[in-house]
Amino acid sequence: MTAWIEGRFEENVITTTLEQAMNWAQASAIWPMTFGLACCAIEMMAVGASRYDLERFGCGAFRATPRQADLMIVAGTVTHKMATRVRRLYEQMPDPKYVIAMGACTIGGGPYFKHGYHVVKGVDLVVPVDVYVPGCPPRPEALLEGIMRVQDKIKARKVTKGEFTLPVPHHEGHVR
Ligand code: SF4
Repeated sequence: MTAWIEGRFEENVITTTLEQAMNWAQASAIWPMTFGLACCAIEMMAVGASRYDLERFGCGAFRATPRQADLMIVAGTVTHKMATRVRRLYEQMPDPKYVIAMGACTIGGGPYFKHGYHVVKGVDLVVPVDVYVPGCPPRPEALLEGIMRVQDKIKARKVTKGEFTLPVPHHEGHVR
């Protein structure tokens, strides 16, 4: 009888850690920010449309506010004027959050590297970047690959005390 119960237990119960469960949950439901800066953003939009179907990878709910997003895909040319906005948007995203630098302009200035006085030579001077997706523009398949690398990072994450900050409820339903 005891052996039968133990056998049933092994078959039907999955044990995990809170860390693994949290990582699995976030990696399976990434919410990117609706946010594009130049031509690379067109390819990002293609990834979200039916041909490439980003939803298959658990990453399709583009959010119109940084407060609900945990992935920033910087897609396009980051001008110096825009850099402060990119930083502000990043700071408004709740932790834990991730950044993909999509395309040559975002990664290092691209075609503006030599003479583009108005272009930041790498968005990692403005926000921390987790994954770089090169190309001008990168194909949608390349962005999908980059998103899967973000998922790998999330799944391998070690959750330490104090790492997460949750949005704090504020007046009239807003969060800070
Ligand atoms: Fe446009 Fe190429 Fe720059 Fe992307 S990398 S924003 S496609 S110029």
